[in-house]
Amino acid sequence: MEPLAHLDSPFFDAAHREIAARARAWAPEHLAEAVRCEDREAVDARCRNLVQGLGSAGFLRYCIRAEDGGALPDFDVRSLALLRETLAWHDPLADFSFAMQGLGSAPISLAGSPPLKSRYLPGVAAGTSIAAFALSEPQAGSDVAAMECFARPSGADYVLDGCKTWISNGGIADFYCVFARTAAAQSRADGSTLAQGISAFVVDADTPGLRIEARIDSMSPHPLATLRFSSCRIAAEQRLGPEGEGFKLALRTLDIFRTSVAAAALGFARRALDEALRHARTRHMFGHALADFQLTQGALAEMATDLQAATLLTYHAAWRRDEGHNVTLEAAMAKMTATESAQRVIDRALQMFGGRGVERGHIIERLYRDVRVLRIYEGATEVQKLIIARALLKSQEKAPDA
Ligand SMILES: Cc1cc2nc3c(=O)[nH]c(=O)nc-3n(C[C@H](O)[C@H](O)[C@H](O)COP(=O)(O)OP(=O)(O)OC[C@H]3O[C@@H](n4cnc5c(N)ncnc54)[C@H](O)[C@@H]3O)c2cc1C
Repeated sequence: MEPLAHLDSPFFDAAHREIAARARAWAPEHLAEAVRCEDREAVDARCRNLVQGLGSAGFLRYCIRAEDGGALPDFDVRSLALLRETLAWHDPLADFSFAMQGLGSAPISLAGSPPLKSRYLPGVAAGTSIAAFALSEPQAGSDVAAMECFARPSGADYVLDGCKTWISNGGIADFYCVFARTAAAQSRADGSTLAQGISAFVVDADTPGLRIEARIDSMSPHPLATLRFSSCRIAAEQRLGPEGEGFKLALRTLDIFRTSVAAAALGFARRALDEALRHARTRHMFGHALADFQLTQGALAEMATDLQAATLLTYHAAWRRDEGHNVTLEAAMAKMTATESAQRVIDRALQMFGGRGVERGHIIERLYRDVRVLRIYEGATEVQKLIIARALLKSQEKAPDA
């Protein structure tokens, strides 16, 4: 892998350069033999191995705060982003496994009681326990507040009923951070649902009443499933934070990890650009190298500039979050720009590879499939646009009249 070109920017300090260097040294040795797994059993096994490997190498400690056995006092979005960018460059499943340990355990880090933290987080950091984040439902994806999964109080317990779908790590996770209604949904006058009355719980995978209803196969294979809760009894101590505060907890979690999705997109796009550059210099046609043609040079220039713009937005958002600012706006801009431009960069790379680029298993064909989902999960591009526009309009409301 080429050195991360932006590492000398003022967004980073020596500790960031060190963690990036460690990841860059580790990845070729541990991920070089990464075979493209397409069948479910192989993907599951590889993800389990990757979680163990990332844990043994100490990288998963960046998903946990120091007070719970993690590497740093607080979540450091720049470290998460650098790790995701590097892992994504080498192996999308490695990036996936790393990201899900963070996303799937952050609700516990942010709102879990001390006993819950000490029960779940050490295993996440060590790579001996696999985490998952269960928010989406068949009728509640972008419109999260429309969720119907219900947790009804029953003595000292809650009884959970409902369905969660598109849950990453579904089927291999040891526990799920599950969001469910603890109060009936209330509608606004326009028919949309208020995001109140939602609570979060940590549910062990082997809890009676929780089952994997279906495994889902996707164009970029990774463990994905629909979960069914049927009279699933969970102790009240498994609740994460106060009752009714679950929606805010989901947003706090996504505020940390949304920028890291942008970083994964950078890793995919940077890999595609590196491959395209190499190919353009070595592929000959009409008596020249592909790189000699100005059309190719123009495409390469646009790819590199797209990538650089996305990089600056991503690490600016990460830096601002680490400086303690609210980054709802910046994270949305970074996620939208990096994922959309990565798709363009990879598509142009594929075009340069011609027929080779669509051969099943070719690195560019793989990237073409891997990058697609990033524009949908953790808020589709359209949702990011709404977040950005709302933030702009709100800031104008507050500003004194010109
Ligand atoms: C591979 C994969 C992994 C996932 N992992 C997880 C996970 O681990 N945990 C979890 O909880 N969820 C997960 N999800 C679910 C993901 O978060 C949802 O798919 C996403 O939020 C979109 O919801 P939806 O699929 O229901 O699409 P819908 O909500 O039906 O939206 C469909 C499309 O409508 C458009 N749209 C949305 N809102 C608007 C709007 N206001 N105006 C105009 N257009 C709009 C967008 O283009 C969007 O893609 C995963 C999904 C995938 C595909």
